[in-house]
Amino acid sequence: MHKLITHLKHLILPTFCAYCKIFYQDDTQVLCSECKAAIRPVVSHQLQITKTKSITVHAVGAYDQPLVSLLLAKRSGKRTVAHQLGKLAWQQTAVRHLEFDCVVPIPLHWTRYAWRGYNQADEIARVIAHNSGMPMVHLLRRIKRTPFQSHFTGDAREQNVMGAFALKEKTSLYKDKHLLLVDDVMTSGATLKQAARELYRLQPASITAIVISRVA
Ligand SMILES: [Zn+2]
Repeated sequence: MHKLITHLKHLILPTFCAYCKIFYQDDTQVLCSECKAAIRPVVSHQLQITKTKSITVHAVGAYDQPLVSLLLAKRSGKRTVAHQLGKLAWQQTAVRHLEFDCVVPIPLHWTRYAWRGYNQADEIARVIAHNSGMPMVHLLRRIKRTPFQSHFTGDAREQNVMGAFALKEKTSLYKDKHLLLVDDVMTSGATLKQAARELYRLQPASITAIVISRVA
């Protein structure tokens, strides 16, 4: 009976690879096996936050195809693609083996949110929260509208996001907790750094980050 339902579901809602659009049977997967194999893996990265603190950044893969197409699809308002990115983050990285108490998306400035209608990092964080059973919490606010990081290089990126985030509230709830910080793309790491620096004021036990792509 279950098989029949699955079969019918495939007839009504066929599964297509999110990148090459080929039809395939496994609806638990976002990409067909060929496209999945095309993801260029990157090793996890240590990002120095302060002199004594660093965070590990996990990524699904390098900033390359097929991931780039999925990441850019967000600009045409495809929330489902963002959901698929979340699935990839969960299935393709070490995140599912990590211990964390909550999932913290990097916020967008409200003007950008209003323009786009949703935050890609929120959607990815939501999928991770759902799969891990841990809550998604919005601990940060974006207090500065910063031009896209891609417009800058090197130190200018640090300058651009300096003071971009603030804690929503100063609470002791996250003291000694393990936080998972979520964003879509890491370029220089300046954004994650500023966000983590702010989160450290809550005295968490650890902060780990997960992104879809890292520009390696
Ligand atoms: Zn494919």
